[in-house]
Amino acid sequence: MSSLNLTQLPPLSLYIHMPWCIKKCPYCDFNSHGLKGTLPEQEYIDSLIIDLEQSLPLVWGRSIQTIFIGGGTPSLFSGEAIDRLISSIRSRIKISPYAEITLEANPGTVEKHYIAEYATAGVNRISLGIQSFNDQHLKILGRIHSADEACKAIETVANNFANFNLDIIYGLPKQTIEQAIDDIQHAINAKPTHISAYNLTIEPNTHFAKFIPKHMPEDDVCYQMQDAIINTLASNGYKRYEISAFAKNNLQSQHNRNYWEFGDYLGIGAGAHSKLSFHDRIIRQMRHKHPSQYMERVKVQQHIDEDRIVTSQELPFEFMMNALRLCNGFTNTLFAQTTGQSFNSILPQLLEAQEQGFIELGYNKVTPTTKGCDFLNNLLELFL
Ligand code: SF4
Repeated sequence: MSSLNLTQLPPLSLYIHMPWCIKKCPYCDFNSHGLKGTLPEQEYIDSLIIDLEQSLPLVWGRSIQTIFIGGGTPSLFSGEAIDRLISSIRSRIKISPYAEITLEANPGTVEKHYIAEYATAGVNRISLGIQSFNDQHLKILGRIHSADEACKAIETVANNFANFNLDIIYGLPKQTIEQAIDDIQHAINAKPTHISAYNLTIEPNTHFAKFIPKHMPEDDVCYQMQDAIINTLASNGYKRYEISAFAKNNLQSQHNRNYWEFGDYLGIGAGAHSKLSFHDRIIRQMRHKHPSQYMERVKVQQHIDEDRIVTSQELPFEFMMNALRLCNGFTNTLFAQTTGQSFNSILPQLLEAQEQGFIELGYNKVTPTTKGCDFLNNLLELFL
């Protein structure tokens, strides 16, 4: 394996995983665990702080550009716990004064006083997992909230945060194109700065993979829904900048953008992933997934389940898997800076991708075409 030569390090983000939910949704393949008994709030925050302290030597001298508290359901944690978490981070590592600090919340767990306390603690962006405004679809998705609760949660969030995202899922069982547009229109009416619209996919090892829901819309209906959603969002000022992400007034998710631009991230918490660059190598790590195992092992510095150096052969594919999701693509310079490899090393694959109509090659720029976005997997295969 040849060593890399990174002349500068990319921006660094911090991801914090909160692994519990009230109950597991049947389509979910995230590392989330139905809560049994009381939330071990203090113990888990203690574990996160120990985890961060043990990780500091990997990021000495660097500052955090964005923080994302994701899950699971982070909004199960009290404002006090999130305050202790953010203060503990601040006292251990420099956070940029302009850092976007996002917390994921679920409508079924949005406590009014918690939401206000998150803002006081330093959270400046909320991502709310609405998924649908249709009670029948929410039920099929196994969500714990109703459409009415979703609207109330949005109101609470909007009263406390100027910057918030709503997640919507389309391509739901028995869903019509009109219903998909109706969900998006409801989301638009709530005036979020950002909307993420995902097509429901059946992931392995989920309840839906074992018991495929009936009446899933055909692929061509899903494409029609996607087109209608993109057009509805565009005509309301939401610009698509990534396959599933739409921002108003350019308020893109800075944290996700850093992933897509192949930036670095330190992930702490159960099952969290990290990607960290050094001048001669890029490493990937994953923490133990099960919360109790993670909390036990972090005390004895054995919480890292996987730790490996990414080979230089893997890097082009890894870079493309992220950067080709961005509608504006990427610059040749970004590829060279974040992978430590010359742009010419991937030119044969790029020329082939251009030949097949997947990308456009411009001056210092690679941009996916509509075909490239729609057939991303075929495009990525060229870099395997
Ligand atoms: S609330 Fe979110 S993280 Fe939790 S089980 Fe449902 S989809 Fe997964």
